[in-house]
Amino acid sequence: MNLLTRLTQIPLEELRDFDREMFLAAGLSPARVGELALVHSAYFGHGASKQTTAAAHEARLTVDLLAQIERSIGHVKRKGERDGYRFRLIQAAVDKASTCAALARYAKTIVPQKPKTRTKSARFIAPVNGIGGVIIMGDEHVMADLEAYTRTGINPDLPAGPQMAEAFEKLMRSGEGVPAAAPRPLILVPAPHLSTIIHGHGDDIILGLTDGTTMTGAEFVNNYLCNEEYGLEAALFHPTEGPVNHYRERRLASAKQRVLAKATQPICTNPDCRMPADHCEIHHVEPWRYGGETNMNNLAVLCSYHNRVNDDDPDKHQRGRVAIQRGRPIWVSPTGYARSNKRHPYGAMESLYPELIHA
Ligand SMILES: [Zn+2]
Repeated sequence: MNLLTRLTQIPLEELRDFDREMFLAAGLSPARVGELALVHSAYFGHGASKQTTAAAHEARLTVDLLAQIERSIGHVKRKGERDGYRFRLIQAAVDKASTCAALARYAKTIVPQKPKTRTKSARFIAPVNGIGGVIIMGDEHVMADLEAYTRTGINPDLPAGPQMAEAFEKLMRSGEGVPAAAPRPLILVPAPHLSTIIHGHGDDIILGLTDGTTMTGAEFVNNYLCNEEYGLEAALFHPTEGPVNHYRERRLASAKQRVLAKATQPICTNPDCRMPADHCEIHHVEPWRYGGETNMNNLAVLCSYHNRVNDDDPDKHQRGRVAIQRGRPIWVSPTGYARSNKRHPYGAMESLYPELIHA
């Protein structure tokens, strides 16, 4: 019997007399013993469902697949529901999801995810080599202000973390505190409505502002177009082309282009990244050195890390690249699969034209 056969063909029945201490004492890793304990408890523990245990025996799944099922349903509180999902996942492992990764992905589509909750807290960590630590959970706006403050003026060619820690230490001792961010709201104007509004028929057209308020097209004309002191900035977004171009034949994006790019994509375009657009760089989708222009339909928000690892060379397929689809930036994997960053779904294109984005 070779190693693969020995590892994959452990009959479930042999786990009946599983004893955690004995397995640990025999030199198995705590992680491995933990997985065996999960499976043992599910099928031989108190209250194990006869029907599900019979299905598991018949399915002859590896212990690793059975452990994956337990990890995917462990947060489901009610026993009856958990038994139901366990039964369905055993069937799925037999029919369509025969690897742990595929089974975990499938489980996410049927088992409701644990709701994420968080409360305010602070936890201090014992120092090592003179370096202590603290983890603070606080109001998101306060945290955003702190991040903005500690990132201000850092050298982009050096790692951000140590520089932010230095800035935080100085802030602690200066007693000055962190000023609240004062974002200038942007009025989002759908391009097809603009001529109606400008011609004086905008009473019924509602425009959204990026501070969460609204105004009518008529108010927009009276208060903004006719009054430069109002302090608001208007941004035009076309339904399929995105932010309207302000052609500039130069390499660096203008201040207005940077604002529009951030309004289009309020956090880094990479789907696995949380970096707010305010701390990101403006990336040329078609690189400047390959002839890409500094136009809105060629600009995207990317953090400095994801900007650096982007496959700029069209012949390279290693880390994925940013593309523009339906007027908004999107990340495309090395194999050509497009994914948007769903962590902040309030970009201008989603807000103005949700029916087109999700069509
Ligand atoms: Zn990023």
